[in-house]
Amino acid sequence: MKKDDCIFCKIANGEIPSTTLYEDEEFRVILDLGPASRGHALILPKEHYANLYEIEDDTAAKVMVLAKKMAKAMTKGLKADGFNLVQNNGETAGQTVFHFHLHLIPRYADEKKIIEWTPGTISKEEMEKIASQVKEQL
Ligand code: 5GP
Ligand code: ZN
Repeated sequence: MKKDDCIFCKIANGEIPSTTLYEDEEFRVILDLGPASRGHALILPKEHYANLYEIEDDTAAKVMVLAKKMAKAMTKGLKADGFNLVQNNGETAGQTVFHFHLHLIPRYADEKKIIEWTPGTISKEEMEKIASQVKEQL
C-alpha cells in the first residue's frame, strides 16, 4: 500500500525526483537531503510502512541484505573508513518522516563522531528485570 500524503512513498515510487543510488521492484536508495556525512543515504521500501513495528518480515530481511550490498559499494566507491546503520522509530527516537527508512552513513577517519552516548550503569537485579519484561512479550 502507498499512503497518499507520504513524501517517502512519492520519492520511493518516482513521483518526486531524487538522487537514486539503487532501485529495484521493492526498494529505492536515495541520497539524504540533510546528510550527516558524505554519501549519507536512505533505503526506502516502495510500500508504505510507518516504522519497524509495521514492516513485513520478508521486507525487513531484504532491507538488511540490501544494506550490506550498499555498504560495500559505498565504502569502496566513496573511500569510507567505516559505516553506521541507523533506524529511528517514533518521535522520541528521532524519527521525523513516518515511512520506514534505514540510514546508510559512511564514516571517515578524519570526521568527528556522529553517533555517541554516555555509557550508564546498571545492577544485576535491573538487568534481570529488563530481561523478564522483554521475554514475556516474545
Ligand atoms: P529520520 O529522522 O526520520 O530518521 O530521518 C529522516 C531523514 O530524511 C533525515 O535525515 C532528512 O534529512 C531526510 N529527508 C527528509 N525529507 C527528505 C526529502 O524530501 N528528500 C530526501 N532525500 N531526504 C529527506
Ligand atoms: Zn510512505
